Amino acid sequence: MRFSRLYAPTLKEAPRDAEVVSHKLLARAGYVRQLTSGIYTFLPLGLRALNKVAGIVREEMNRAGAQEVLLPMVQPAELWKETGRWEFYGKELLRFRDRKDSEFCLGPTHEEVITDLVRHEVRSYRQLPLNLYQVQTKFRDEIRPRFGLMRCREFTMKDAYSFDRDEAGADASYRSMYDAYTRIFRRLGLRFKAVEADSGSIGGSFSHEFMVLADTGEDTIAACTSESCEYAANLEKAEAVCVMAECGEGCGALSRVATPGAHTVEEVAACLGVPASKIVKTLLFDVDGKAVAALVRGDRELNEIKLKNALAATDVRLATPEQVQQWSGAPVGFAGPVGLAVDVLVADHELCNATGMVAGANEADAHVVNLDMARDVKAVRFADLRSVASGDLCPRCRTALTLTKGIEVGHVFKLGLKYSEAMKAAFLDEDGKERTMVMGCYGIGVSRIIASAIEQNHDADGLMLPPTIAPFEAALIALAGKDAAVLARAEDMVRELEGMGLDVLFDERDERPGVKFKDADLMGMPIQLVLGGKGLERGVIEAKCRKTGTRTELPLDGFGDAFAAFRAGVWRAWGLESPGR
Ligand code: ATP
Ligand code: MG
Repeated sequence: MRFSRLYAPTLKEAPRDAEVVSHKLLARAGYVRQLTSGIYTFLPLGLRALNKVAGIVREEMNRAGAQEVLLPMVQPAELWKETGRWEFYGKELLRFRDRKDSEFCLGPTHEEVITDLVRHEVRSYRQLPLNLYQVQTKFRDEIRPRFGLMRCREFTMKDAYSFDRDEAGADASYRSMYDAYTRIFRRLGLRFKAVEADSGSIGGSFSHEFMVLADTGEDTIAACTSESCEYAANLEKAEAVCVMAECGEGCGALSRVATPGAHTVEEVAACLGVPASKIVKTLLFDVDGKAVAALVRGDRELNEIKLKNALAATDVRLATPEQVQQWSGAPVGFAGPVGLAVDVLVADHELCNATGMVAGANEADAHVVNLDMARDVKAVRFADLRSVASGDLCPRCRTALTLTKGIEVGHVFKLGLKYSEAMKAAFLDEDGKERTMVMGCYGIGVSRIIASAIEQNHDADGLMLPPTIAPFEAALIALAGKDAAVLARAEDMVRELEGMGLDVLFDERDERPGVKFKDADLMGMPIQLVLGGKGLERGVIEAKCRKTGTRTELPLDGFGDAFAAFRAGVWRAWGLESPGR
């Protein structure tokens, strides 16, 4: 590809709303353009990168025995009503009506559509297992589209769905997808971790997320620091090991104290001179229409996902100030577990035997002290409600956990019977008995991967892409001016490189060297080759690895072998096996 023909409008300045480096660089390097909030156009460079990622995903899905299909993006409401998700999915589901007034949505995911296909076509155990996948545009009306390609409303996803005869088969399908994902993210040169995850609104029994490790990630991962333990989980899910307060310490009688204007844990702690760990934090929620109080220690964070799971709830909302007033008889900041008018009282395990605690008194500007959870709090359930913190113990091996940030690029779920039961996807087994298919579903954020790769690899000059993602593996810069000999030789080299299987961006523009170097660095191709008049005279071409900055001169005579060795070094710098090996 000749640079002078390439449509890659670079920008000096990043868009004003770009917060993260991948968004800034993708716009500046001319990979993408925003059409409107969370909706992007892929320019030639961006689309080439997207297709490279999709290509590797397809290869590994095919290798794992999955077959590619393409499902419609527009989906009828009836299917979503069958599974109950028409109501449950919330506002991320973009709904609309056609001219006959029938209801539709744009597919944010395709469990309903694929299950509908399979239930009509697959009848016998002989047709199972079956794994179908697609690479397709998804639409989710995200509440806060941001970070460029990271959280879009319209984005490209690879989604696969497996159908098995039984649990064991479904487990094998899950394992095979898990392994395929590991190969995919390795081949894409990403530093990643597979973590245990909550199964969220897709539902199902167990799941793992594949996280690219980056400080800008929106997810938090709790991972065991022991070398021999592999435990890692999304913070939403990471189990807290409960170190219970010792029983029987006892404390004086519960009594009320004035805490004027002290609503927050910090204010109460300062006012009464107690550590935050001796305060019971009481949070009020509207859970599926019921009044719920959730209690955690003052120095802990309540985990809403855990609360939702503990109550088997669908909709968890923080109570409004009016609800707080109604249930506690006090303004926000003074609720406590004694004498609270709620339907459900649930507390974190850690509070089980706690004594000598401070809590809200359910009246303005007052708290109670000497609270003994076992003695004073009636009708309370205990559950794992708090988020783990750095230094907490690993639930597997009791070594300390550490917290890091991650970007979710893939998610594998074992769905079990959730969709096949709701939509009656059944088959006849060997004995002619009707049985329900056991399903799994597996997503990869194809467009998000490009952003995550850049979050992990960039410098002040621009982005750096691994050879397996970069739109062109090499940029060949001819410093020719009007020197026809240099241009001609450079052209020959482009052909030679293409013959070796590389995509090459040939910068033959009549531009100053500085401009060409800047563009090459900004666009991030992993290999840069520079041929100038002097080099040609000396019979050498300069080669640079964009990732490490290493430069070497390669001989023009015997270029093929020298280049192959250099290229292998570049791939190694990305932790990749060289192509063709
Ligand atoms: P998130 O928690 O980040 O919203 P999710 O759990 O909703 O993700 P899935 O439903 O599992 O995501 O979708 C599969 C994959 O699609 C995700 O792992 C992620 O890589 C990608 N993805 C999800 N939402 C978006 C989005 N809004 N923009 C870009 N990619 C996305
Ligand atoms: Mg989401």
